[in-house]
Parts: sequence; C-alpha cells; structure tokens
Amino acid sequence: PQFTVADIRQTFLDFFKERGHSVVASSPLVPGNDPTLMFTNSGMVQFKDVFLGTDKRPYVRAASVQACLRAGGKHNDLENVGYTARHHTFFEMLGNWSFGDYFKRDSLKWGWELLTQVYRLPAEKLWATVYIDDDEAYDIWTKDIGLPPERVVRIGDNKGAKYASDNFWMMADTGPCGPCSEIFYDHGPHIPGGPPGSPEADGDRYIEIWNHVFMQFDMQPDGSVKPLPAPCVDTGMGLERLAAILQHVHSNYEIDIFQALIAAAGRETGVQDLSNPSLRVIADHVRATSFLVADGVIPSNEGRGYVQRRIIRRAIRHGYKLGRKTPFFHKLVPDLVRLMGDAYPNLKASETRVMEVLKAEEERFYETLANGMEILDAALGGGQKVLPGDVAFKLHDTYGFPLDLSADVCRERGVTVDEAGFNAAMEKQKAAGRAAGKFKMDRALEYGGASNKFTGYERLEEQARVVAVYKDG
Ligand code: ATP
Ligand code: MG
Ligand code: MG
Ligand code: MG
Repeated sequence: PQFTVADIRQTFLDFFKERGHSVVASSPLVPGNDPTLMFTNSGMVQFKDVFLGTDKRPYVRAASVQACLRAGGKHNDLENVGYTARHHTFFEMLGNWSFGDYFKRDSLKWGWELLTQVYRLPAEKLWATVYIDDDEAYDIWTKDIGLPPERVVRIGDNKGAKYASDNFWMMADTGPCGPCSEIFYDHGPHIPGGPPGSPEADGDRYIEIWNHVFMQFDMQPDGSVKPLPAPCVDTGMGLERLAAILQHVHSNYEIDIFQALIAAAGRETGVQDLSNPSLRVIADHVRATSFLVADGVIPSNEGRGYVQRRIIRRAIRHGYKLGRKTPFFHKLVPDLVRLMGDAYPNLKASETRVMEVLKAEEERFYETLANGMEILDAALGGGQKVLPGDVAFKLHDTYGFPLDLSADVCRERGVTVDEAGFNAAMEKQKAAGRAAGKFKMDRALEYGGASNKFTGYERLEEQARVVAVYKDG
C-alpha cells in the first residue's frame, strides 16, 4: 500500500506542525484523576482542563496520535467488534486542537486540505454533516470549501433533548462539549448503508472518518451548560478508518496492522480462513488488553480491571470456539509489539509483563471454560430463544463467565439473556450472603451487567458502601 499506518501518523503530525501545532505524546488509557471517565476515549481527554480553563499549556495549538479505548462508560464499542467494519475497542485517534485560538473555518479548511491534497482522497466521495442550526459551519462547507449542498447534511436532535444528538459531542456525561461537523467517506454502492442523516446511515457504506468539535460548553450534572472561557476546537479522526481508505480496502480489519494480527491469530488458533469473524475479535482484543496492561490495568473483579477481564475472557472464548483448548492468546503479544512497539515504546517495554498477565488470566479461565460452555450449550440445546437468568448467574458465579460473555455467545445463536432474572439471582445471593454473615465483597462485585450498560463507577460507589457497612459492623 501507498500509505502504511506509520506513514499516515507521520503525515498527519507533520501537516499540523507546519501549521503551528505542538506535537504532544499519547496519554495513558487510564485518565489521571478523573472520576467522570473510565478510559481515555478520545484525543481531547488529556486537554480537558485546558478547555475548562483550569490548566494552561505553553501552546495554543496541539496535535497528537492518541491511543483510545471505547469499552466502558459513555462511548462503548465492545458489542460492535466482530459485527461492523469500522469499530474497535482500542484504536488510534489523530487529533488537532485549538485552545481559544483558531475556530471553525481554519479547522474545516485544513481538514479538507489534508484529506484531499495530502492524503489525496477523491473529493467526490466525501460528505459532511453540521449541527442542525450551525449556519456558519454549513456556509464554510458549501461556500468556502465548495462542497455541493447535496453532500452537506444538517443533523440535529432527533431525541427531543437539545444536546442529545449525534452532532453534539460530549466526552462524558459532564464536562467539555459542543456542536460538531463530521466528514464521511462513501465506500460505494456495493456496500449496504445510506448517507449520514438517512434511516440507513448506520450501515458501513458511508463511514465517518473525522469529527471536528467546536468546544463551547461545560456540561453540568443537571444537564445545563456553561460557556467555556474561550471557544476551542477539538478534532478526532480514526487512524484505522483513514488507513482503510488509503489502502483501498473497505474494512478497518483489512489494513496492514490488522491483516498481520489476524494472520497471527489464525496461526495460533490453527484457522486457515482468515475471514472468520472470531479472528477479528481476537485481533482487536489483543490490542486493547495489551495496551491496558502496559498502562497498569490488570484483570480484577471491579472497575477498570473488570473491563480488562471481560475483554480477555471474550477473546479466549472466541479462541475456544475455534478449537483452542489451551492458552494461546498471550502468544500474539510479540506480533503486536513488532507491529506497534515502535510507535508505543511503553508497549514494547512492557512486553514480558503483558504476556505474563494475559497468560495467567488464560490459565485461570481455561479451568472453568469448558464446563461452563457445556452448561451453556445444554441450556440452549432445545432451541430456546432466551437464556434463563439463573443459568447466566450460575455461569457467572461458578464458571467465571461475565454476563456480557454469555450474551455474546447467545447473540451468535440468535438468543437473548434474561437480564432481569440474572440481576434477581445476583440480589438473592447477596442477600443470602449477608444474612449468613459471610458476605464476600469480591464475589458480590464480580459482575458487569450487559456491557453497553456498564456502570463501573456505580460499582465503585457500591464497593464504597459495602466497605462502609463493614466498618460500621
Ligand atoms: P461512529 O459513529 O462510527 O461510532 P463516533 O461518532 O462514535 O463514530 P467520535 O466520537 O466522533 O466517533 O470519534 C472521532 C473519530 O474516531 C470518528 O470519526 C472515527 O473516525 C473514530 N472512531 C470512533 N470510534 C471508533 C472505534 N470504535 N473504532 C475505530 N475508530 C473509531
Ligand atoms: Mg460511536
Ligand atoms: Mg458518529
Ligand atoms: Mg462522531
């Protein structure tokens, strides 16, 4: 391919460096001291306080390539992995920022210039969206840049709440936010899906590549907004999505890095057909979990560690589905380090530890995985459409199957999980445990809920309450 992933990163940073931006390193996946956010889900996270005006930097323009994780909290794509062409849990975000310096016009014009003149994307395949009442951004697209009005779509709040729309970006439930303008690429009529704003927009034909957020507000816990000290720009472009276009493939999973990881996953699982979706899941998850270990997150039964455990176990279960009955997942780490270690020295430096942590978790889960799968298979053997909550709970409690892992198996077979029944069984056990006076805190906390509803911080609060109860006798 003309542009490798490494070329794309460098080209992006050079472009913005030439335009007065300071190049800033990727920050850790665990945001420092921010209880509103589970993981770094975008490039702006390390600048949150700069937007709010409580932190100052020696520059007003910045650019970075940020390691991101969307597997818990406000932005969660775990359930999309293996199903769409464009979502990962871990991905790299190319971003540029203005802290009270330039605004909409420069941001959009530079974006267009970089895409069409430097990366040389065909202009006729690009679309843009703007926030519904953002006439300024609309005019920049149609008049300054000259995009035909048919390909500039206004998107507003379809849900009734003024700030709940797709074109209003929020990092978390509170904090910096603002209207945005997004750039889409049309991969062509042979792929199902419709243009942004249409009912079929969720397909993989028109893929969103670059979001330009015009940061203007600080969302309060009660849903009201305060203006930021100065209007700012925050952009984010998915590296893998851009790479797919530049390498003339459709799916993120067909780009250079992913093809190599998928081949490695095929090697370790003995699978020849590299289009098997389980290999994509494994390739995605080895990135997420390795970078998490490198940033200090080890598998545990609560909070971030539980997200880590859930991702690792999901990957292992996919390996099991492909016929692996012994640990294999950690053997992909050297491949990953070869592919990404130069760009992320911390990953390279952590290689041995990452392998050890993943291997230990594999050994642990393999002790119960086969028996758990037998129970699950038996429960679904009669063509049932719903997995009973008490079975899901038993799998969770005795066999270490996080609820979302059981749900992942069920989804493959067109079955749903009785979540209410699961929660009821959980409550019942907790109550019984308390009554018997041998309540085991770690056990009680060992659950995730369906991952799209994962509420790690509620659980931390719960833990705090449990600790308080213990202290009070
Ligand atoms: P989508 O609508 O496709 O889920 P998004 O609107 O949630 O994307 P943003 O929050 O706007 O994404 O993030 C900025 C950019 O990061 C996106 O335009 C996209 O290129 C990239 N991106 C977002 N989520 C993912 C992901 N899960 N995997 C890979 N790239 C992503
Ligand atoms: Mg999304
Ligand atoms: Mg979107
Ligand atoms: Mg977006």
